[in-house]
Amino acid sequence: MKYDIIIIGGAFAGLSAAIYTSRQGMKTLVVTKDIGGQGLLTNEIQNYPGFDSISGFDLASKFQSQAQLYGCEFSYDEIREITEENSIYRLKGVEQIYEADALILAFGKTPRDLGCEGEEKFKGRGVSYCSICDGPLYKGKEVAVAGAGDHALQAALYLGTVASKVYVTQKGNRISGSEDMIQDVKTLGNVEFVYESEVKEIKGDKTVNALTVKKKDGTIQDISVKAVFIEMGYVAKTQMLKGFVEMNKENEVIVDMNGFTSREGVFAAGDVTNIPYKQAIISAGQGSVAALSAINYVHKKHGKNAVRSDWKFVDLKK
Ligand SMILES: Cc1cc2nc3c(=O)[nH]c(=O)nc-3n(C[C@H](O)[C@H](O)[C@H](O)COP(=O)(O)OP(=O)(O)OC[C@H]3O[C@@H](n4cnc5c(N)ncnc54)[C@H](O)[C@@H]3O)c2cc1C
Repeated sequence: MKYDIIIIGGAFAGLSAAIYTSRQGMKTLVVTKDIGGQGLLTNEIQNYPGFDSISGFDLASKFQSQAQLYGCEFSYDEIREITEENSIYRLKGVEQIYEADALILAFGKTPRDLGCEGEEKFKGRGVSYCSICDGPLYKGKEVAVAGAGDHALQAALYLGTVASKVYVTQKGNRISGSEDMIQDVKTLGNVEFVYESEVKEIKGDKTVNALTVKKKDGTIQDISVKAVFIEMGYVAKTQMLKGFVEMNKENEVIVDMNGFTSREGVFAAGDVTNIPYKQAIISAGQGSVAALSAINYVHKKHGKNAVRSDWKFVDLKK
């Protein structure tokens, strides 16, 4: 089945775009790995207008049900390849193939891999990229944080309140990160920094049981832990877009103020783009801009007039 618009990504950018496109009568499909994206990693968003405090999951769920009100469809899949033939975009997912007249790229950022042995094998079985989501599973147990700077300290701060002990690896002989966070972590009392150590391997049986580090003097140390939290920051995983749309040196999709990419019929929004200040509200705003541009593109393609604004009243009771 061919859609007017396919949106890749089901978080704030993608879902906001979906509200606009489906409300304007576009046959819209959101293909996404989850609903909420990075928002799922936070229990509390305090700077989204209209809510004093709301979890990322609750906020994204509200976006999704609003898009569904207007008939937006969802497919839980991961897109691996995008091609174009005669102005029709063809998306290859793990589960299915999809086709559309226009695309909105809204697939945000993904946690950066550490790249050590055992990481892939134990993903979801003790290797986690989200301390807030998975930390409670290790209540009263010993865990490790392998990462860098404030990302690692932020995770240690939270895990220190749940786990019995938290080991944090450090490449150098001092703690890297901002001074106030270092002080906060130190007050916890159950966080131990493992200095001058390089992570070599995550070991286990069915689940993780140790983190192996190589010390500066060449000795190997096995730290007995039930989980390893990898906190290396986030990257735009845009390899599939190489040669398809222009990107900057951070591999972010370059967009203009209307959400246009370098390719006709392909629009982008949110953290996957080169727009600064990666925030939920900015992704949502950009999603609506990309959506209006995509709607105009599809109207033009179908020989119709462009939409100038989106203020029409839709009576949902009809
Ligand atoms: C711990 C943490 C706390 C934060 N706190 C705040 C806060 O308090 N306030 C605030 O405004 N912002 C906060 N942010 C930032 C905010 O979460 C992001 O800016 C926002 O989520 C970006 O939304 P997005 O839609 O652009 O992309 P993302 O949230 O990155 O979502 C991308 C979506 O695309 C999907 N996807 C990825 N690749 C594919 C693929 N190949 N195929 C199909 N689907 C795919 C993902 O599953 C996901 O649904 C926080 C971020 C983190 C990590």
